Amino acid sequence: MIRRHHRPDGPAGNWLLDALPDADYDRLRPHLREMPLARGRVLFESGEPVRNIYFPTRGLLSLVLMARDGNEVEVAAVGPEGALDVAAVLRCDKTMCRAVVQIAGAAYWLSATTLQKELHSGGAMQALLNCYLQFLLLQSFQTTLCNRLHNVEARLARWLLTTSDRAQLDQLPLTQEFISHMLGTRRASVTEACATLAQEGLIEHVRGCITILDGRGLEAKACECYAAICNELQIVYGQRHPLSEE
Ligand SMILES: [Zn+2]
Repeated sequence: MIRRHHRPDGPAGNWLLDALPDADYDRLRPHLREMPLARGRVLFESGEPVRNIYFPTRGLLSLVLMARDGNEVEVAAVGPEGALDVAAVLRCDKTMCRAVVQIAGAAYWLSATTLQKELHSGGAMQALLNCYLQFLLLQSFQTTLCNRLHNVEARLARWLLTTSDRAQLDQLPLTQEFISHMLGTRRASVTEACATLAQEGLIEHVRGCITILDGRGLEAKACECYAAICNELQIVYGQRHPLSEE
């Protein structure tokens, strides 16, 4: 399990960096660089040489695959619980998908070369990244099942909840156009599903911003994939269900 601990002088926020033992963190610290993540920024495209690994501390990024006709779909999301691109961890030469900032925030980054040295040092980073890979794979497998088997309304509810949990925001600055790309579905279907959830008082949707008004109600609407992802977060990170304390 990935256990975070408070490090008074550390880059609090990224769950993997926060879980490093002090000696490992001190070794990496001179190499960590901070950067803002502006909304819409593309950190890398699919198939690019792997140069860096990024550890988000705030905000959320989508890992996106694009079809030849330009249509794209989110295959996973990465927030402060993770790192990207995992190609750097797996020692691949090329990135596996496009990474775009969905919700603005910040990240620390390391060069892929520095990461490789750290992975060879016998420190805790390899084990932490392996745990994260477990979570990332589950998330991606669940997304595949979800996109194939569950209806748009349930998928939208699941997607809004996971996005809100990860970004730790109830107000999500997201357009329906963007959500339709992430869910891999038609914009008209997303508009209809948003309208239904709004009519039931679960969300409020005002030009480019969706506010979650009733998390528990939205959870009742979401497909089983939301509970599956929360469960995996609990197994890997010891993270309590985001709505359990309400
Ligand atoms: Zn689902």
